[in-house]
Amino acid sequence: MQVYNSISRRLEELEPLEPGHVRIYTCGPTVYDYAHIGNLRTFMFEDLLRRTLKHLGYRVTQVMNLTDVDDKTIRASREAGLPLQQYTQRFKDAFFEDLATLNIESAEHYPAATDHLPAMIKLVETLVTKEYAYVTDDGCVYFSIDKCETYGRLVTLNPESMRPGERVDHDEYEKDGVADFALWKAWKEEDGDVGWDSPWGRGRPGWHIECSAMSMQYLGETFDLHTGGVDNRFPHHEDEIAQSECATGKPFVRYWMHSNFLVVENKKMSKSLGNFYTLRDLLDKDYSPRAIRYLLLSAHYRQQLNFTLAGLEQAQATLDRIDEFMGRCEAAAADAPGTPPHWAESGRRAFDEALKHDLNIPEALAAIFTIIHTGNAAFDDRSLDGAGAAGVRGVMREMDAVLGFMAHENDVAGPDIEKLVAQRQAAREAKDWAESDRMRDEIVALGWSVKDTPHGAELRKQR
Ligand SMILES: [Zn+2]
Repeated sequence: MQVYNSISRRLEELEPLEPGHVRIYTCGPTVYDYAHIGNLRTFMFEDLLRRTLKHLGYRVTQVMNLTDVDDKTIRASREAGLPLQQYTQRFKDAFFEDLATLNIESAEHYPAATDHLPAMIKLVETLVTKEYAYVTDDGCVYFSIDKCETYGRLVTLNPESMRPGERVDHDEYEKDGVADFALWKAWKEEDGDVGWDSPWGRGRPGWHIECSAMSMQYLGETFDLHTGGVDNRFPHHEDEIAQSECATGKPFVRYWMHSNFLVVENKKMSKSLGNFYTLRDLLDKDYSPRAIRYLLLSAHYRQQLNFTLAGLEQAQATLDRIDEFMGRCEAAAADAPGTPPHWAESGRRAFDEALKHDLNIPEALAAIFTIIHTGNAAFDDRSLDGAGAAGVRGVMREMDAVLGFMAHENDVAGPDIEKLVAQRQAAREAKDWAESDRMRDEIVALGWSVKDTPHGAELRKQR
C-alpha cells in the first residue's frame, strides 16, 4: 500500500517494521466537550485506514489516547465547578457513544493521560539528564529547541521566527512564536486540585509530552504510523518528534499521515457563524448516522471536505440506492455462496487498487457504483442467476467491511415497528397529537427515527 508521508512530503510504500503488522498511534480527543464533526472527520479517516489495512491482510495495533488533562480540560472543569475526573468522564463516555453511532471500529488501546503520569515524568527526567531540557526556578521544565538540530522537519519554520531561550507556556501556539515549550508545568492557583508530585515539585505534564510518553509505552520507541488532523502538525507533532528522538536517540515515527480540514457550507466552522455541529446536533435534525458516516468518508482525506446539509441529503439518497441494490441481490441470491460474475470481480479489484493508492476513496466508491449500475442492468434483463447474485452480494459485503455504511439485516424494520408506524399514522389522521407523539417515542425507544415527508412517514435505523 502507498501512503503520503507528511514528513517526506511524498508517496511511499508502507513497509511496517514487523512484516504484516502495522502499529499506529492516533491523537485522540481532548475530552473537555463533545467532539465536533471536524474532529469526527479525522477519526473517520483513521477508521478507514485501519479497516483498509485489515482488509489488505495486515494485523493492526492502534493506540488512541484520551487527553484528559491539559489547559482546556482544566479550564472547562473549573468553569463547570466540577473535579477534573468527574468532568472529563462525561465527555469520554460521549466520545465512545459517538464512535459507536458512526460505526467506527475500536482501537486496541485507549490510554488516558491521567493514568500515565509515571511514564511522562520519566521521559521528562531523561530529557533533563541529557540536557535537552532545563528546569526553571519556579519548577517548570522546558524543552530547549536549539539543542535539537532536527527541529522543524514536519513543518517548514522560518529561522527568524525561532526564539530559542524564550518560553511558551500554552499547549497551543502559532508558527511565528516558536520558542522553548513546556514539558512540565508547575502548579498554579488556577489548576485547583489538579497536580502530581514530581522531581520538580507539584505540577502537571504539557500536552505534547503526553502523546510521546503514551505512544512509546504502547508501541515502542520507533513505530510505524502516526496520524492526526492537519492542525496537529504544529506544534503538537513537531514537538512530539523533538522530545521523543532526543530522549531515545532513535527515529520516532516512520510515516506521518494527516487529514485535511472540514468546512461547513464552504466556511470555517464556528459557533458564531451558526455552522458548528456535533454529531448530536445532526441526529437531533433526524439525519441518519449512516448518511453522516458516508459524507464524512466520501472525500479523499488529504482534500478539504465541504460538509453541507444538502450533501447529507445526497448521501442518504446514495445509501437508499445502495440499499435497494442489496435488496435485489438478497431477493435473487441462492442460499449457497455464489461465484461473482467477472464485472463484480473487476469492480472488487478496482476498489482494492484505489484504496492501496493512499486511500483513494472517491475512486473506490466509483468502483461500487459501476458494480451497482452493471448489476441493476443484469437484474433488469434477467441475466444474473441465483449463484451470480449471491456472488455479487458477497463482493459488496466484503467492500462494506472497509466502508461500514451499508444496511444490515437488523436495519430492516420488523413487523412490530411497522405496526407502531401505522398506529402513529392513524393517530395523526385523527389529529390525536398526544397519541401520535407517544407512538413516536415508542419507535425512538426501539432504536428508530421517523420523519414525515410529503410522500409519507420515513423510517430510519439509528445506529
Ligand atoms: Zn497527540
